[in-house]
Amino acid sequence: MNKIEFITEFWNRQKSINDYICPICNEKICKKNESPMVDYHQNPGVIKYYYVCLRCGCFSVPITYDYLLEDKLKNRNDKERIAVSSYLREIYENLNPLGPNGYYFVDGDIIDDLIKNALDNIPSTSEKLFKLLRTIEHIQEIPGRGIIIILNKNSMNIDELGGLSYYYYYLALSCSLNIQELMFYLDSLKKLDYLQSSVNGSNIVTSITAKGFEFLEKQRIADRSQSEEAFVAIKFGDEYKPDSDVIEESIKKNGYKPIRTDKEHHVEYTMDHNLRKIKGCRFMVAEISSGNLGVYYEVGYARGLGIPVIAVARKENENNIHFDLKQFNIIFYESGQNSDDRFKTLQEVLPDRIANICGNLNNGS
Ligand SMILES: [Zn+2]
Repeated sequence: MNKIEFITEFWNRQKSINDYICPICNEKICKKNESPMVDYHQNPGVIKYYYVCLRCGCFSVPITYDYLLEDKLKNRNDKERIAVSSYLREIYENLNPLGPNGYYFVDGDIIDDLIKNALDNIPSTSEKLFKLLRTIEHIQEIPGRGIIIILNKNSMNIDELGGLSYYYYYLALSCSLNIQELMFYLDSLKKLDYLQSSVNGSNIVTSITAKGFEFLEKQRIADRSQSEEAFVAIKFGDEYKPDSDVIEESIKKNGYKPIRTDKEHHVEYTMDHNLRKIKGCRFMVAEISSGNLGVYYEVGYARGLGIPVIAVARKENENNIHFDLKQFNIIFYESGQNSDDRFKTLQEVLPDRIANICGNLNNGS
């Protein structure tokens, strides 16, 4: 059973509660299971309520938190509630770097963090334009293929939650308050020559132009060059923890935020999550002497995207480094417990290397 079939079955099972008011977006377009159920995916054993909202997507909330959820957003204005709704939907649709892949509900155990993140990052008007164009690109799959946006609210149907044509999907993913705002973005994208579109009854048929694709590409590169995040690619576990700590310190010294995915909350498969985080990073520091295949994979991915990779390696493992990676300008360092120079080279050279390649954010160089 795929995700859409699963959600459709879930929706159909919840017959007794129809048109429930969603605690996130406050619209009467939600369903919730009558009795809480045991989590069957992410956190086995935790008892949860499951929500399916046409706008927010699907999310779960532990029973101990459920009654707090309404209070949490009660005093927020519409714009803030829509920002949370949009953020959850992005995650549900795999459009956010935090997005789940393979899970059917956004994990309720971290819903508090998600709400906080959403409220800290309410998108601007131009960001919303980009979000809408990116959503259309996501659906379009093949350039030139027209996609249909259904503007008639009365055609509400659970199939549309996965069917991607219903306008709640576009409202949510462009973070629009209402249909007028969505129409403004669609119209603006057309005027900018990023979209070509025509009205067909109460539907809009649209597709991205060559100029629109060019804009998306430029935007992604610009986002990355503005990023203050640096990905740490290193074998997880205690063995490499001291190395990782030194690497993180060197990154922070230059004003960047180290991303160690083993320390983060996330709700998807680890490698998918890592690749999404790499995409948004300014640079990567990779320890390449452990022979860890995940690290090699991450390095290859970053190189393919044109992201600078700073390679470091334990001196005693020099012979473990794969032939293809030896051509890197590697920072070798002592890591043995008994070495007087333990991590000394790494501490001294890595911060300078980062500053030389990507600049030091603290002094604007
Ligand atoms: Zn909702």
